[in-house]
Amino acid sequence: MTVRTRPDLATLPAYVPGRSIPGAIKLASNEVSAGPLPSVVQAIADAATAINRYPDSAAVELTTRLSEKLGVPAETIAVGCGSVSLCQQLVQATCTESDDVLFAWRSFEAYPIVTHVAGAGQVRVPLTDGHVHDLDAMAAAIRPKTRMVFVCNPNNPTGTAVTTEQIEAFIEKVPSDVLVVLDEAYKEFVDDPDVPDGVELAKAQWAKGRDNVAVLRTFSKAYGLAGLRVGYAVAPPAVAEALRKVFVPFSVNALAQVAALASLDAEDELMVRCRAIVAERGRVRDELVSAGFEVPVSQANFVWLPLGERTAAFNEHCLSHKVVVRAFAGEGCRVTIGEPEENDAFLAAALSFNS
Ligand SMILES: *Cc1c(COP(=O)(O)O)cnc(C)c1O
Repeated sequence: MTVRTRPDLATLPAYVPGRSIPGAIKLASNEVSAGPLPSVVQAIADAATAINRYPDSAAVELTTRLSEKLGVPAETIAVGCGSVSLCQQLVQATCTESDDVLFAWRSFEAYPIVTHVAGAGQVRVPLTDGHVHDLDAMAAAIRPKTRMVFVCNPNNPTGTAVTTEQIEAFIEKVPSDVLVVLDEAYKEFVDDPDVPDGVELAKAQWAKGRDNVAVLRTFSKAYGLAGLRVGYAVAPPAVAEALRKVFVPFSVNALAQVAALASLDAEDELMVRCRAIVAERGRVRDELVSAGFEVPVSQANFVWLPLGERTAAFNEHCLSHKVVVRAFAGEGCRVTIGEPEENDAFLAAALSFNS
């Protein structure tokens, strides 16, 4: 006899991690290319001598620090093992089998997976022709079973962002017992003043008595700690408490906690890096557009090439130039902005594809 696992798991797509090919330039996973700051490496090394002890499961120091930085009570913060884990916890905390999660599609690949694993249903609302969240259609798609809506802003993989005005109008239309989650994994790369800081937006909503807005942030992207797994939610107290209930104890490890604190200490230095990436993003997009590619304006650390049927060929072409991008078959390629030389290698590959 073989062990019986859930038969429905066979229908689930496996999460596709970015490919790593020896000697190739990796622009597939939206990490920052620059290595960790020496001060962060030192903090990790110092903490390594105490890893025979369990981590602080409540991450008190990090929670306190974030609460001060963001100007929100500590009870509104829930730390998680990467914000992808918090996505899963949010679904677990809000949904049972008879409930639904709503999100745009295409958006972050983890949403359908964590929703399905939690046993909840899902409703996907296509992006507009401009590859942006269709918030009107999303509001119209909310049904009595809907418990939660993910709004990925800027959106992964298209890089497009929705504005403060659009989100506020959307929240107006969402029933107050349905949680709106702004996933801001790429917030630090936003330079359009019309795109909100989700935490400020949430605070304003809470002040109006709207206790159904939460925000997800991560140390994986701008803060360069993808390998350590730490993120956080800023949520109304009842939601943050529910997140802590479904948290796998000790899953935010001790090194991640000290590295996150050291990264907050070095925030100015890290934000300088982000601004350089933003400048490169503009350069890369301009060159691609000049070469005839369609590239939506990106507010993240990547660009999206909606290549449709040509996606697989473009992907192979980039691989033959030793550049690894992230292809979504039949839809497009997402290309992370790296260091200038890495971007040059990608541009050389892309420009020779079109000619
Ligand atoms: C990368 C990413 C995350 C989470 O990353 P973690 O490493 O799990 O913190 C969350 N949301 C989106 C949209 C992302 O692209």
